[in-house]
Amino acid sequence: MLFFDIFESNARLVLSCLAFLFFLFSTFYVRRLKVGRGLFFLLAGLAIVFVTSLVQSYAGFFYAHAVSAQILTLAEMLLVLTSAVLLVIASSWILMNTALGANIVFLFVSAGLLLILYAIFIANDANIVANIRQLLPIVGMTYVFLSFVSRTKIWRHPGEMVAGIAVAGLIVLMIWPMLFSQKYPWYLPVDLIVLLGFSYYLLYQQELQQRIVQQNEIQRRTSRNIENIVKSSPFPIIISRLSDDTLLLANNNAVKLFGLTDEQLPRYHFKDFFVDADNRKILTERLEKNKEVHDFEILVKTATGNMPFWLLASVNVVDYNNDVVLYSAFQDITSRKRRETLLQSQADRDPLTSVYNRRYFEAKAVEKIKEAHRQKKPFAILMMDADHFKNVNDTYGHKVGDKVLIELAAICERSLRPEDMIARYGGEEFVVFLNKVTPEIAKMVADRLREAVSGGVVYSDDGQPVRFTVSVGVAPSGIADDVNLMIKMADDAMYLAKENGRNRVELYDEKQSAADAEKDKALQNKERMVHPVFSKEDNKEISLLDGIETNHMAED
Ligand code: GH3
Ligand code: MG
Ligand code: MG
Repeated sequence: MLFFDIFESNARLVLSCLAFLFFLFSTFYVRRLKVGRGLFFLLAGLAIVFVTSLVQSYAGFFYAHAVSAQILTLAEMLLVLTSAVLLVIASSWILMNTALGANIVFLFVSAGLLLILYAIFIANDANIVANIRQLLPIVGMTYVFLSFVSRTKIWRHPGEMVAGIAVAGLIVLMIWPMLFSQKYPWYLPVDLIVLLGFSYYLLYQQELQQRIVQQNEIQRRTSRNIENIVKSSPFPIIISRLSDDTLLLANNNAVKLFGLTDEQLPRYHFKDFFVDADNRKILTERLEKNKEVHDFEILVKTATGNMPFWLLASVNVVDYNNDVVLYSAFQDITSRKRRETLLQSQADRDPLTSVYNRRYFEAKAVEKIKEAHRQKKPFAILMMDADHFKNVNDTYGHKVGDKVLIELAAICERSLRPEDMIARYGGEEFVVFLNKVTPEIAKMVADRLREAVSGGVVYSDDGQPVRFTVSVGVAPSGIADDVNLMIKMADDAMYLAKENGRNRVELYDEKQSAADAEKDKALQNKERMVHPVFSKEDNKEISLLDGIETNHMAED
């Protein structure tokens, strides 16, 4: 009870002084925060509370100077109302860093004024006056407290924390007697709390709106920044809307790169520049996963669909002008790509004839066989060897031999379909993969190739025509669908063709395979070592080579 007595007596002045000092202390910590204006109003409000206490304490002085009790009470009430309004304004600054809406202040002031005038002049009820005296500062303080609490980082800042606790303590101090004193009706604190809750909700709504406005401002500023970056970048940059892919912005470099004009920009979509739809699909999928993709290679074309070229792209999903957009920066890597392709083709091709090399053929044939199995289609591998090629070299020279190989490869490549594949397997041997052919068709194709080759001609240095032929072995699919085994089979069939007189085609015969193997062994053991098919009876010219067993290649 002593506590309430203190509260009601002159000691209230001391308490107010203490609270004021406490606030000065706590606000010292907060002064660097962006709530300076809030603090100004807070201090102003508290100063008025202080002045009110002074007026109350020195009531006797005023009476002595003939101030009527009613006027004094009115002055006191107006001071209390002013302090409450200042505290509410302070809370608005603290909570939202903005002024409280004028309409709220007006409502608050007019309601308070009406209440005061009614209590003093119409009802003339000392009890109501006493209640108002208690209520108004509580309302103001609670606002301040709520606004402190709703600043999310309050508990991380010691100054704000002290201020928050101080305000809470003061409120408890003020509300405490109301809860237990008979002087106040029970519903007064309940009303107070409900009203405060409601107005806090309104304040919070206003704060949210405020945040949206701020957010929009930030958004506008970021968009402007993005535009400046895009415009001043030395790299081509475009911005396209994520939802419908339309181009929203492109800098001069990008406009030039894609062959556009500024007016055409909105009529185009980012996808219009992609040569390959799958390429774009991969990019989109990666963006869905990561929101940014770097060093992505895109084959693009200009607005007029000219010559495709390669770009290295960095693409980010960003916010721009209230849209979600793709921010894509490019680097032209066409020349690098061209160099790469050249190097790659150099690695895959035979430098003399420009057809594929053996390594590439073997790797690619594995893929082609898999594909053929998937499609359940037959295929074939041909082995082709130039007849008496050593003769050509020895008679006309190595250079003419080279010319023959080049012409031979070119003739074959011209006669084959694009889906077939020819490669130089070794010296004067070529290997061919035929897609989707039955054994019979394969043999026909092989025969066509043989015939085409036999029609070819190159000229020696002194203008003499040099003609050439090939022997071809055909390995059809279905017996053993392994690249190396099939090459071996084709090779066996090719040797049979050699044996059977050259410039002819032989189909690998499964039934003969065992016999062939035997023959093979025998050949390996003795005959092949000295080229039995290359006999004197076979070819008159060979007599020139009598006694010359050296391999041309070995000489080089
Ligand atoms: P056959 O009809 O039995 O195949 O007789 P051939 O003379 O063609 O067979 P052989 O294997 O004895 O000779 C192949 C020759 O091909 C030997 C080699 O000097 C020559 N040769 C291999 N590669 C090249 C090349 O790149 N350029 C030239 N000019 N000749 C090559
Ligand atoms: Mg050979
Ligand atoms: Mg040969």
